[in-house]
Amino acid sequence: MRSTSGIGMTSQRTRDRMLSRLREQGIKDEVTLSAMGEIPRHIFVDEALATRAYEDVSLPIGFGQTISQPYTVAKMTETLRAGRPLGKVLEIGTGCGYQTAVLSKVASEVYSLERISPLVMKARKHLREIRMSNIKLKHADGTMGLPDFGPFDGIIVTAAASHIPDELVHQLAAGGRMVIPVGTDEQILYLIEHIVNNGTSEFKKTKLEPVKFVPLLGGTN
Ligand code: SAH
Repeated sequence: MRSTSGIGMTSQRTRDRMLSRLREQGIKDEVTLSAMGEIPRHIFVDEALATRAYEDVSLPIGFGQTISQPYTVAKMTETLRAGRPLGKVLEIGTGCGYQTAVLSKVASEVYSLERISPLVMKARKHLREIRMSNIKLKHADGTMGLPDFGPFDGIIVTAAASHIPDELVHQLAAGGRMVIPVGTDEQILYLIEHIVNNGTSEFKKTKLEPVKFVPLLGGTN
């Protein structure tokens, strides 16, 4: 197992510098920031890239996929939380498991779906190192969500969809929030809120900001 306390580029000091930068970039939610301060991001990337793990960039994780840049992880987590503790959360696109790990600190239960089998194994290995017992990973196409385990207080999609899938929207609990990048060349991060008013459900969509994600694809590999 690689050291999680470490020295130099993988130390707590490096992580604290990442947090200062996230604050400068406008992240305000201290719960999100402290979760990111606790999770050793370098164990989620290949050893050769470990010294770059805390830079504000996305990095390759194999199979043509990437680990999201810290700002994006922070922004999505902060938006999902909206200042409250989260119960059950669903993530679509586990990748290396970093966002999953951050979520496990701010939610009581995290389900994460990944369509590429070797990445599920990679994420499992990384997540074993942080010993969080509230994470369930599944090898599956996430576009249909996980209806048997919902509804979810939060849904986070970490690959860009061509449209907002209805199946996912309908797995949001009352008061639940979903963050999802939508678009192909130009992608926008959307927030979808399930608001219940006098017994009727409304799904409010808000455009947040431009983002860059790998595409959400159908089927499994
Ligand atoms: N959450 C990751 C981001 C991983 S990149 C992080 O913390 O950095 C996005 C991931 O979504 C890739 O691993 C890709 O294989 C996966 N993905 C794409 N389409 C998917 C789908 N339909 N179902 C599940 N996973 C999908």
